[in-house]
Amino acid sequence: MTNAILKYRRPHADGYGPEVVDVVCAACSETRTVAYSGWSTIVCGGCGQELHRPDQGLPAVSDGDALSIKVRVIRDGMKGDHDAMTEPNSGEDDVYASRLNMWIRLLSDAIEKYDENQPKPF
Ligand SMILES: [Zn+2]
Repeated sequence: MTNAILKYRRPHADGYGPEVVDVVCAACSETRTVAYSGWSTIVCGGCGQELHRPDQGLPAVSDGDALSIKVRVIRDGMKGDHDAMTEPNSGEDDVYASRLNMWIRLLSDAIEKYDENQPKPF
């Protein structure tokens, strides 16, 4: 189960209904518009992944933030696979494990650089 990315929290189009938000799947980018509150998990229509609503109060994010979240989800997924591959007696080829580790490092470096360049709240 991964966290959903919430984007563009806004009033309902008819002006009266509940606030809505776009829910983006971090894995496949399928997007769907739902009520901002009142749900905790939805199933992605694109890839079937269970998407968990981020904690209450988390603001809907910008395009840049959404990309940043997506990159982290992919990095963490790759790292999980890497850790599984490199467990003793996993039987997996070391060459692939070290290549995978290289991609994870590159992504982590990019994420770190991105974080360093973000405006600080103080
Ligand atoms: Zn999906």
